[in-house]
Amino acid sequence: MRYYIFCATLLLSSKFLAQQQPVFKKEKICVIGTGYVGLVTGIGLAHIGHDITCVDIDAKKIANLKNNIIPIYEPGLKELLIPAVKKRDNSKQSLRFNTSIDHEIQANDIIYIAVGTPMSDEGHADLRAIEATLNNIAKNITTKKIICMKSTVPVGTCAHAKQTLIKKGVNPLLFDIVSNPEFLKEGTAVEDFLHGDRIIIGCENKSAGERIKNLYLPLINNGMKYLITNLESSELTKYASNGILATKIAFINEIAQLCNKVHANVQDVATGMGMDKRIGNKFLNPGPGFGGSCFPKDTKALEATMKKNNLDAHIVRTIFKSNEQHKQVILDRINTALENKENVAILGLTFKANTDDIRYSFAIDLIENLQKKNKNIKAYDPQGTDNMKQLFPNVTYCTSKEDAIKNADLIVIVTEWDEFKTLDLKTCAELCRTKCIVDTRNIFKPQELKRHNFTYFNIGNM
Ligand code: NAD
Repeated sequence: MRYYIFCATLLLSSKFLAQQQPVFKKEKICVIGTGYVGLVTGIGLAHIGHDITCVDIDAKKIANLKNNIIPIYEPGLKELLIPAVKKRDNSKQSLRFNTSIDHEIQANDIIYIAVGTPMSDEGHADLRAIEATLNNIAKNITTKKIICMKSTVPVGTCAHAKQTLIKKGVNPLLFDIVSNPEFLKEGTAVEDFLHGDRIIIGCENKSAGERIKNLYLPLINNGMKYLITNLESSELTKYASNGILATKIAFINEIAQLCNKVHANVQDVATGMGMDKRIGNKFLNPGPGFGGSCFPKDTKALEATMKKNNLDAHIVRTIFKSNEQHKQVILDRINTALENKENVAILGLTFKANTDDIRYSFAIDLIENLQKKNKNIKAYDPQGTDNMKQLFPNVTYCTSKEDAIKNADLIVIVTEWDEFKTLDLKTCAELCRTKCIVDTRNIFKPQELKRHNFTYFNIGNM
């Protein structure tokens, strides 16, 4: 008898457990905004089995994508795009691109918002693209939708978006808003999508949050962590994460400046600090200051949010300022090195290696500074040249690092591309006119530079 009760309990509990286990369901998703984030999200979600349509107002971008031309440089992305597009017509994967935003909002059940939220002139997040997207959504909701906010938006934006849609006459029963901020790093975005550290989901309606979580089930079953919380905590997790990462960079750059003054070696200091598990060894690389599309704008937006909430936040208030001051220290050093000299070779234009993104790159500050002083600039970057040409058409862009270095009075290393790390200093010394290097990424060993008779300045590296 006892045996039968045991078996029945086992059967019931396994049935119960089976019911509790979420099962993967293919969803129909429209991703609005096909930039770095929207494209990686769209291709990634298609790769794990969803039916995706990526839309954008940029018709040229969409036309290129329809021809399998990826508008950004992101390692590994094309390798996922091609099979996702090819399998469009059979059962498992599908990925389409188009500009019919209204139609796609109507046709899909889940709408991802991945449009840009750049820094406004006043230093807070410019939400005009979000507002335009909400307008489109309001006009086209006829069936129940989940609206999922991927763009980085200040805390309170999702709740505000809900009110905006209601004010525009949308029935609140027709939609749920979910926050699902993005944490990808340009240059390793595909890897981050597939094997990232975490998925953060904020929601008011738990079942909508669960449905977004279940989109990522193949990744979660593979060990990716997730957290479901409320809308505001999710939005703030994104800003707080970027705030702490930017703080680490600004901090080690300040320490590097001190190292330059007191005969200490910042690489050793960072290694020693990183041996403490509480600190960790990531994000302690000194450089020319943080750039890119996220840290500058997100730290400024966090500062603005603090201010709006009447908080005098000492740390947050100084992250951006410290970074700007650090960049100025390097520019001053470059200007000193260039007294009575004319020709500058810039190696690297992007804000970091393995991307073509030049947004808030130190190279922009550098070119502006040099052009004001009428210096001759030759620049080389493996991926960022086309983007920089649009900002500064009057720079001489080279097709090789050697070409850029030829006859230079000063070489400035801006980006830590692998191909610069293997630069032969003997060849460099032969090509340039004056042996002088400002190495903002500490890629050269000071002993090697000395051996080849270079005068040099680096970021706290003896
Ligand atoms: P992006 O500028 O590369 O792409 C934005 C895209 O949105 C563009 O293609 C643009 O044409 C399109 N767009 C603008 N308005 C539109 C509209 N009304 N309808 C449809 N499409 C529209 O921006 P991004 O770097 O992909 O960033 C998008 C968001 O993700 C931002 O909030 C950003 O802060 C956040 N984010 C970016 C990164 C990153 O590394 N780039 C990482 C995490 C989060």
